[in-house]
Amino acid sequence: MRREGGSGGLDRFRVLAALLVAANHTSPLLDLSPLADHILTQILARLAVPFFLAVSGCFLLPRAEEQGRRSLLPFCRRVLLLYAGATLLYLPLRLYSGALPGPLGLLRDVVFDGTFYHLWYFPALLLGLALTALAPRRALWYCVPLYLLGLLGDSYFGLTAALPPLRAFYDLLFRCFDQTRNGLFLSPLFLALGERLGRTPPRRGSRFYAAALAGALALLLGEGLLVSFFGLARYSTMYLSLPLALWLLFRLLQTLDLPRRPELGTFALVFYLIHPWAIVAVRGGARLTGTTAFFVEQSLTHFLAVVLLSGLLSALACRALSRRSGQPAAPAAPSRVRCWVEVDGAALQHNLAVLRRRLPEGGKLMAVVKADAYGHGALPVARLCAAEGIDAFAVATVAEGAVLRRGGITGDILVLGRSFPPEFPDAFRHDLILTAADALHARELAAFGRPLRVHAAVDTGMARLGFPAGDLEGLAALFRDPRLRVEGLFTHLCAADGPSEADTAFTRAQLQAFFTRARELRALGIDPGALHVQASAGLLRYPGLPCTYARPGLALYGVGDGALRPVLTLKCRVAAVRDLSPGETAGYGRAFRAERPTRLAVLTAGYADGLPRSLGGRGRVLLHGQSAPLVGRVCMDQALADVTGIPDVCPGDEATLLGPGLPAEEVARAAGTIPNELLSRLGSRVERVYL
Ligand SMILES: *Cc1c(COP(=O)(O)O)cnc(C)c1O
Repeated sequence: MRREGGSGGLDRFRVLAALLVAANHTSPLLDLSPLADHILTQILARLAVPFFLAVSGCFLLPRAEEQGRRSLLPFCRRVLLLYAGATLLYLPLRLYSGALPGPLGLLRDVVFDGTFYHLWYFPALLLGLALTALAPRRALWYCVPLYLLGLLGDSYFGLTAALPPLRAFYDLLFRCFDQTRNGLFLSPLFLALGERLGRTPPRRGSRFYAAALAGALALLLGEGLLVSFFGLARYSTMYLSLPLALWLLFRLLQTLDLPRRPELGTFALVFYLIHPWAIVAVRGGARLTGTTAFFVEQSLTHFLAVVLLSGLLSALACRALSRRSGQPAAPAAPSRVRCWVEVDGAALQHNLAVLRRRLPEGGKLMAVVKADAYGHGALPVARLCAAEGIDAFAVATVAEGAVLRRGGITGDILVLGRSFPPEFPDAFRHDLILTAADALHARELAAFGRPLRVHAAVDTGMARLGFPAGDLEGLAALFRDPRLRVEGLFTHLCAADGPSEADTAFTRAQLQAFFTRARELRALGIDPGALHVQASAGLLRYPGLPCTYARPGLALYGVGDGALRPVLTLKCRVAAVRDLSPGETAGYGRAFRAERPTRLAVLTAGYADGLPRSLGGRGRVLLHGQSAPLVGRVCMDQALADVTGIPDVCPGDEATLLGPGLPAEEVARAAGTIPNELLSRLGSRVERVYL
């Protein structure tokens, strides 16, 4: 179970946005101050619909880019159905408020203005999606001009009206629709912004975005007041500074680390759909009960009554919907329940800083995030690294690289493993850099037909991947192949962590062979591009090599040097406590036998969670800050710890299996493995919590 940071804030704001729309239609502050009401409903509340559009763009358009436009069809079909249903729902009110227009007028309502006053959102969403899906990543180029055109028919129509030819053009437009806040001019921009917001991670913290948003809102306020002061507006829905405010609001929400609440999105949608009926109901109810003076004529109580009724109806509808789909009404994300990993972002930042100090002048880090960032979560780790200025990443497979791209990582991504022709289209589409593993592989890469980006691997003694170090011609031919973009040269050290003199000599020979090859290529007039050699051990024991990059993995996560801080803590809970008398046994194979009165804690983690089975009888855990030996055999889902000396251990207590105070090196040694294996084998059902 993963918790992706960022979406929780968006989920929550949807409810607020729905309230703003209701405010827009009820003018809650009108009695108190017409100016305050204007500011709330005609200026600030204008963020609500763009916010909904940006959320849609954020989740839908990256999919259109990756899986093709057709992947949007199921969503569009649902929106159409919803629009049709809502049209029927409001047909009685529409008929009551006046006769239906003719066929052309009907068409104009259905496509642009909406079949009821708030329903314009649905055709605007569909039309906007159609426009932005044409080129999801480049849509801003044409959506910004469209928005500006829309502005001249909305808040700035006063300027337009003063210029006769322009005026004539807009008069023509307004025969096709009543407002420019529609699927042609308003929604494409916010959908395209949403796409960009979803594809790229926030680069600053929430405090920055909060301050910037405050500034943007002040700007919006100023603009709105000026527009109204000069009487420019035909309608006041679109403002010049609205996209900026929306962008910063969205970023702020993305930086809030709140658990997801998708059911709030459903609630907000139903609320949006239903609130005009609630307005009618409140008015009707007030008239019947003779309370019009209180519930209708007082704007604030009117608004509150509408919100209460809409909220109640929406909550009921959500309950009914979730019952029908068999899901609990409010699946609040359970957190830290059974077995989980806590990832400490500050420790990662610290490690980046420590490792950067080991780089030569101008050298950069390439963050190795293969195997789900050694169990830490590839995307969250890569996002954090990106926010710290890292712009190069390494993964093991094309699929791992694609996950990073889909998550909005824009830096270079090198695939360290051997790739195969069926993966080349994905590698090309996601702009990944492939490793050329040898001459045969190089031929496959070149035959792909499109210019793949490549780094050449040199085998300097590990005998794994790479051109043989002596094969200067093979390397030169690769670099000169016009069908490829060969941008780097690298090797891997296989004894850099060895302390013996023989290891050091071997490593020195590897380095010598590598840098000689780079020099010889240069002598042939070939630029070998980016050079990189050092993984964690290489960087820590052989710092300062003249390389473009160092490629640490393990060290990023805090293993291998006392100056580094462990990033990951693996925790579980006590499931039960058992008292054993001397001679009694516990666990599979009765592997544990009590020698004295013994208290055992049953832990909610097993080898399927990544707790090595070989730790049984050898490892320890931390409970109440004290060590408790792991006894008996580790089961698939549970393990036993001897807590005899530790007072007051109760079911539900937290136990630490790995982390500060219990370093990965120690646990790996006890299990007969290395930290890399230990971390990369954490189970997929272990929840990740990001601190
Ligand atoms: C995994 C890997 C790394 C990172 O290794 P660490 O020891 O975790 O730093 C670097 N380079 C290559 C080629 C790798 O396969």
